[in-house]
Amino acid sequence: RGKRAFIAGVADDHGYGWAIAKSLAAAGAEILVGTWVPALNIFESSLRRGKFDESRVLPDGSLMEITKVYPLDAVFDNPEDVPEDIKTNKRYAGSSNWTVQEAAESVKKDFGSIDILVHSLANGPEVTKPLLETSRKGYLAALSASSYSYVSLLKHFIPIMNPGGSSISLTYIASERIIPGYGGGMSSAKAALESDTRVLAFEAGRKHKIRVNSISAGPLRSRAAKAIGFIDMMIDYSLVNAPLQKELSAEEVGNTAAFLASPLASAITGAVIYVDNGLNAMGVGV
Ligand code: NAD
Repeated sequence: RGKRAFIAGVADDHGYGWAIAKSLAAAGAEILVGTWVPALNIFESSLRRGKFDESRVLPDGSLMEITKVYPLDAVFDNPEDVPEDIKTNKRYAGSSNWTVQEAAESVKKDFGSIDILVHSLANGPEVTKPLLETSRKGYLAALSASSYSYVSLLKHFIPIMNPGGSSISLTYIASERIIPGYGGGMSSAKAALESDTRVLAFEAGRKHKIRVNSISAGPLRSRAAKAIGFIDMMIDYSLVNAPLQKELSAEEVGNTAAFLASPLASAITGAVIYVDNGLNAMGVGV
């Protein structure tokens, strides 16, 4: 049978999660997605109304099928974690079973197992603030939504991942080089995510034969990136300075994810792979 993928962090057709879903679907995988609860209604109704049909087209002309959309809020591990104000929030009240543990249980109940887990989500409420002006609360929120969310996802999905499975997250070079503007602790969150990629590769590899990798992606005009405020500048900078002077397409990241999830990458784990037109290799701008 074909492989089954759960992709956390898809709420429109502009981001990396969507592109990864498409590349995996094109390679024959069955696609399940986890969508942030507050974005769920719009995403599902847009899907139903055909708003994404143009972007659903796969290389063979068929349309990507999303077998099921699961509500997810990756900052909560189980129902006991959910504070009262969220429980009673209008945007959450209409959905259920959206903590990480419950989402994994729902997938298990519906499908039994998965082969591929993708974490394509991040959130830093103070991302527009320099690190020196970031509050403790904002910093920890960035780490919770963007780093621990991955530990939690893997922890809860590993029991339903088939041996030989593959897990992928998305990171950004601001973890290791100074990128002014990527604030609020988001640079710290990506550093944690990359370090965790190595430790999780060891633990998940030894115990469950699962590979764990991260893609360090170049700039893409996604919804999340537009919220940071400097995305056009970053795209222009890359166009001018990267070894490959072309705009990076989300599909190129999607295709790398499909490679990493496939047996072609069977010896690759604990790695951070750059998909950025080579910008990471430059020492100075030119
Ligand atoms: P995106 O907006 O398509 O994806 C981010 C998703 O995270 C959204 O769907 C949002 O609803 C979801 N999300 C936020 N908080 C959540 C939560 N608590 N629980 C569940 N879902 C939540 O934007 P994107 O840029 O494609 O981001 C995907 C990944 O790629 C992120 O990890 C991001 O840091 C990374 N990345 C992006 C760029 C870029 O330039 N866009 C570059 C490198 C890495």
